[in-house]
Amino acid sequence: MWGDLNGSIVPRQASPKGWRGRPPTRWSERGVSRRSFLRFCAAITATLALPDRYMPRIAEALEAVKRPALVWLEFQDCAGCTESFLRASRPSVGDIALDILSVNYHETIMAPSGKAAEKSLRDTVVNEKGKYLVVVEGSIPTRDGGVYCTIGGRTALDIAREVCGNAAATITVGACAFYGGWPAAKPNPTGAVGVQEAVPGITLINLPGCPPNAVNITATIVHFLTFGVLPATDQQSRPLFAYGERIHDRCERRAHFDAGQFVEEWGDEAHRKGWCLYKMGCKGPATFHNCPVVRWNEGTSWPVAAGHGCIGCSERHFWDEMTPFYRRLPTVPGAGVQATADQIGAWIVGGTAAAFAAHGIVSAIRDKARPLDENPQINEEDR
Ligand code: SF4
Repeated sequence: MWGDLNGSIVPRQASPKGWRGRPPTRWSERGVSRRSFLRFCAAITATLALPDRYMPRIAEALEAVKRPALVWLEFQDCAGCTESFLRASRPSVGDIALDILSVNYHETIMAPSGKAAEKSLRDTVVNEKGKYLVVVEGSIPTRDGGVYCTIGGRTALDIAREVCGNAAATITVGACAFYGGWPAAKPNPTGAVGVQEAVPGITLINLPGCPPNAVNITATIVHFLTFGVLPATDQQSRPLFAYGERIHDRCERRAHFDAGQFVEEWGDEAHRKGWCLYKMGCKGPATFHNCPVVRWNEGTSWPVAAGHGCIGCSERHFWDEMTPFYRRLPTVPGAGVQATADQIGAWIVGGTAAAFAAHGIVSAIRDKARPLDENPQINEEDR
């Protein structure tokens, strides 16, 4: 159906009228223009850090995919992750939900309620066993038998074990489903934990953030639908395409950090000039996330560009360990400016950075043994 000519998209048998002569696709039938669809595929290819030549593959997969079932569970949460996903606009979440996936259960947007809703969930688990995707938002309480979050008379723990345990893959979204989030902040009265701890041993990927970026959620789903596997991850099961680099290393204010030019007070001359926010508490040197690259609100901006420091929301226990948010990261005596930030990052996240690097090497070695199509992200020729 498609040709791949150095990354460009052309029909293999273009009609004399070109694109206008093509039969309508299900995307065009739903009002998504060809241009919008291809722009979406290009954005997802770039987000996944894939070479341009994978864009036709993604476009073809999205046109051919047979709408796998999706279950979206909400446990101890604020629904901010759902709100973030509903803001997806390349294309809209309605297009994603109705054209790529069959959303069988999502408490916030589904039409059925009560027993009908629970039946949708049960039917999916039974009839689509091993084939459906699960997105989990919110933490799982474990104290006192898990009674602090029950849905339809069942605990979140019970539901997660059954639904995630029978799925093809589980995608956790947000800090709460990652490690427990704000419900797990000290003193963690409900014994809240993330999905990986509550239901060990399942096929899972973590997309932390408070909230996570809809672009990364969409890209992860598209990767799974296109290549049949989840993207390559670090030791904390976070995809490398989204959490493989420090905020600090891609930050547009980094030159000011290196030059020792810092904002000293909100609204001062340095703040107006866009200098570094390190002294105002920015946690970018200790945080792994692609915010500076994919940005937010359709790529319009992100917190640091808007004048506020990073709060480290994609790191474990950030509510306890990255606070107070306006207190600067501690300095390391005897180090220069550049070395200081690197050492602070390593100090704050403990062994995370080192473990991440080590895991990256292991992943590269492991993935070299895989064929190109199985995991295109890490093929040597594409580096
Ligand atoms: S400390 Fe923050 S604002 Fe400064 S360069 Fe690093 S990430 Fe950017």
